[in-house]
Amino acid sequence: MNSKDTPVIIDSEHTDVVWLDLDDTLIDFQANSLRALDNVYRQEKLDRFFNSPQLWIDRYHHYNSLLWKDYAAGKVTREYLKMERFRMPLTEAGVSTDDATELSLKLDPVYLNLLAEEKQLMPGALDLLKRIRRAGLPVGVLSNGFVEVQHRKIASAGLTDLIDMVVLSDDIGVNKPDIRLFEHAMKVSGNISPERHIMIGDNPDTDISGAIAAGWQAIHFIPNASVSPSEKCPFVQNLSLIEVKKLRYC
Ligand SMILES: [Mg+2]
Repeated sequence: MNSKDTPVIIDSEHTDVVWLDLDDTLIDFQANSLRALDNVYRQEKLDRFFNSPQLWIDRYHHYNSLLWKDYAAGKVTREYLKMERFRMPLTEAGVSTDDATELSLKLDPVYLNLLAEEKQLMPGALDLLKRIRRAGLPVGVLSNGFVEVQHRKIASAGLTDLIDMVVLSDDIGVNKPDIRLFEHAMKVSGNISPERHIMIGDNPDTDISGAIAAGWQAIHFIPNASVSPSEKCPFVQNLSLIEVKKLRYC
């Protein structure tokens, strides 16, 4: 295990493709989502049901995080997640089932549209992408996010020209950490040697465990210092600590 200030090196001699998770690895999803949810509250007048934007956002996050765990584990569908993360807080706030269902169908696209327009990146993300490309390695995004928003988020954040491939769980209907998504990413890249791929991501269960199981290298990114590093690979707390260079072997 490396320490928190140790640079982690991607060895360009033994790596052909660098994959990055999108949400909370390249893009500051938490900040962007907070702004989008706050705008949803105001735009859709949710003060009818929640006393403050913070209460609305808290209840949304509570259900959304539970539903995403179930979705990553393949226990619920994306449609169920997209509906219930709005309907559950609404029914909890006393909205009737029918009204909550109707409103949830409306809130889903409103939220996703607002989210897709946000552009806050994680610190150091842009420089890391530039370093990887200067080293001559292609960059892929490997994300469990929804196809209708991930490409727009990449464009809004100004990352389109720095990313060579985007592989989403929606493309084949399986989520990280399912090894089939990593195998699909290898096929898309045209390089099927697993040990020559590296995954950088913030989620130890989906990004890191999945990559290791697929035979990839991995770097665990921990933007929040309270999260424990994965024991399966090196970690960084800041993307600026990831270097890309050709290591020399004796
Ligand atoms: Mg993530």
